[in-house]
Amino acid sequence: MIFTVAIDGPAAAGKGTISRAVAARFGLAHLDTGALYRAVAVKGGDPVTAAQTLTAEDLARDDLRSLEAGQAASRVAVIPEVRAALLDFQRRFARREGGAVLDGRDIGTVICPEAEVKLFVTASPEVRAHRRWLELGGDQAKVLAAVKERDARDAGRADAPMCAAADALLLDTSDLTIAEATEQALAAVAKALAG
Ligand code: C5P
Repeated sequence: MIFTVAIDGPAAAGKGTISRAVAARFGLAHLDTGALYRAVAVKGGDPVTAAQTLTAEDLARDDLRSLEAGQAASRVAVIPEVRAALLDFQRRFARREGGAVLDGRDIGTVICPEAEVKLFVTASPEVRAHRRWLELGGDQAKVLAAVKERDARDAGRADAPMCAAADALLLDTSDLTIAEATEQALAAVAKALAG
């Protein structure tokens, strides 16, 4: 079975939790594509070379989840050659036998426009910053500023900007619990699998 679930949206909207739940429920492989950009940024040196030579060890580093790594990832993610170096791996993963869930910013628009299910998961910047602050701690105002800065960079870049595909289902999680948001995503995938 070739079956792709594309889950896009801004930082801390709930994409990761929803993706993991969808993958677990339907037995699909999961790729957190943000980790690729984080690993490129954290590896250091020339970002294009880092993207071309990325290894499983780079992806297993335990410092990828920090606020700084997220900011640095969005800076290397504007470089077209970095995106190009990561494209084939993501495309192959998306169409692998057995089905896959990928979460990121450009999965439904660029990596896999033919995905069987596309979700765009979002929430207000304030709600997302609060969630990120609960996860990482630090100064709340700084976390909100970082979230807004990253949104602007991700949505404003020329190459593969973050945006909802025309045929994506919008899921605003601002006023939903993660369980409610996950239920809606699971229902959308179940419907596509049945259809
Ligand atoms: O999702 P996460 O917060 O880990 O992503 C880190 C950064 O990587 C994003 O802010 C974005 O700039 C970049 N990214 C991207 N395309 C993707 C996934 C992530 O440009 N598919």
